[in-house]
Amino acid sequence: MQNLTRFIFLLIVSLGYSQSKYKAILSDIDQKEASYTHIAQQIWSFAEMGYQEEQSSALLQKTLQNEGFQVEAGVAEIPTAFVASYGSGSPVIAILGEYDALPGLSQQAVPYKVSNNGKAGHACGHHLFGTASAAAAIAIKNYLEKEGKSGTVKYFGCPAEEGGSGKVYMTRAGLFDEVDVALHWHADNKNAASIRPALANKSAKFRFYGVSAHAAGAPEKGRSALDAVEAMNTMVNMMREHVTESTRIHYVITRGGEAPNVVPDFAEVYYYARHKTRDEVVKVFDRIVNAAKGAALGTGTTMEYEMIGGTHELLFNDVLQPMVHKNLETIGGYQYTAEERAFAVKIAESLETPLNTQFVEGVAPYSKGAKAGGSTDVGDVSFAVPTAGLRAATWVPGTPAHSWQAVAAGGTSIGSKGMMVAAKTLALTGMQLLDNPKIIKAAHEDFIAKRGKDFEYKPMLGDRKPALNYRN
Ligand SMILES: [Zn+2]
Repeated sequence: MQNLTRFIFLLIVSLGYSQSKYKAILSDIDQKEASYTHIAQQIWSFAEMGYQEEQSSALLQKTLQNEGFQVEAGVAEIPTAFVASYGSGSPVIAILGEYDALPGLSQQAVPYKVSNNGKAGHACGHHLFGTASAAAAIAIKNYLEKEGKSGTVKYFGCPAEEGGSGKVYMTRAGLFDEVDVALHWHADNKNAASIRPALANKSAKFRFYGVSAHAAGAPEKGRSALDAVEAMNTMVNMMREHVTESTRIHYVITRGGEAPNVVPDFAEVYYYARHKTRDEVVKVFDRIVNAAKGAALGTGTTMEYEMIGGTHELLFNDVLQPMVHKNLETIGGYQYTAEERAFAVKIAESLETPLNTQFVEGVAPYSKGAKAGGSTDVGDVSFAVPTAGLRAATWVPGTPAHSWQAVAAGGTSIGSKGMMVAAKTLALTGMQLLDNPKIIKAAHEDFIAKRGKDFEYKPMLGDRKPALNYRN
């Protein structure tokens, strides 16, 4: 294995993009920048939330269909999920695409906050994610066609990343079973392909049912569902002292009664539990369920809970990830125009951080030590197939995800330029994989070694159906 790793490392280092066949395909992506920008901007304007991405999904399907891809829509029992395939035989390269927006974050493409009327907005850059991935899949198709090579490229249209765990259902449905490598990317405030872990998580809504009564006239007849929620939260908050480090638990009370003079007969609390490893999440989650049971018992109410989401942590591939990093360096960053810089300066001011464009123009150095922040349903894909990805500077440096600043930049040429960096890096990686079966083999060996030979996939959300209305 050691020797093989070294061999693969040297192979990756020697992979050039100098080969004219790669260059021609990549410059073809550049030539279509206006058309891809138009697609991304349409999805940005649709701003459809998880599982409601009808127009966004249809637009991406049509784009791929027009390029000769076969589209299978409504996969994994999700109307807005699809797989678009081109080519035949192995290797099978998958490119993941997302296109869901976030509630309440609508924002115009201006460097100051514009009131949003509570509408959804692309605060995680998934309009760029979906489009750049389609651009990469089309480029890989062009390469297969031009070189007359055996191989398949599949674009996975993945709905509802934000809280909906779309890819978990797609993984559970076995859609990745025949795939050799999955590539993805994400919008960010810098160009980077370092290893940045994601936390495993489980989320559920706990519903308590009591008995309503006049809160002053006949309180002894009432059993408060809100009491149960509060009792549960108290127990879980005490539990925080007795969980392993890096455990994260968060909740919001989604229903707490209607009026103080009525004992609430219904209340609901929405919980997330996260940790670096899925095994720990399962343990913590079971304890949260016990707190809910205890709360129901103590308050004379009844309780049921509904799993909402659940994802695995990210499994990194030590063959593919350095390869993506090298390709990102090869593609390189981009320069702001004077107009973009003026926009970026204003955004940076709103974030109260000085503007440093080092990793917009260049690429952040490769590292493995980053701290895990959020979770992603790419985690489940990464346990089904060797997976690697990158992040591209679609947002002004310093911009956090899920902010109005992210929506704003994503609606400008800064978003488009970052999207092009991602599209070309993914395309180059896909083409090199088609040409180098040894890399795919080594990636698979690394994958099996990390995942364990006897690994059995158990989705964190169990056997629940896709939560198509999970926000209601
Ligand atoms: Zn995202």
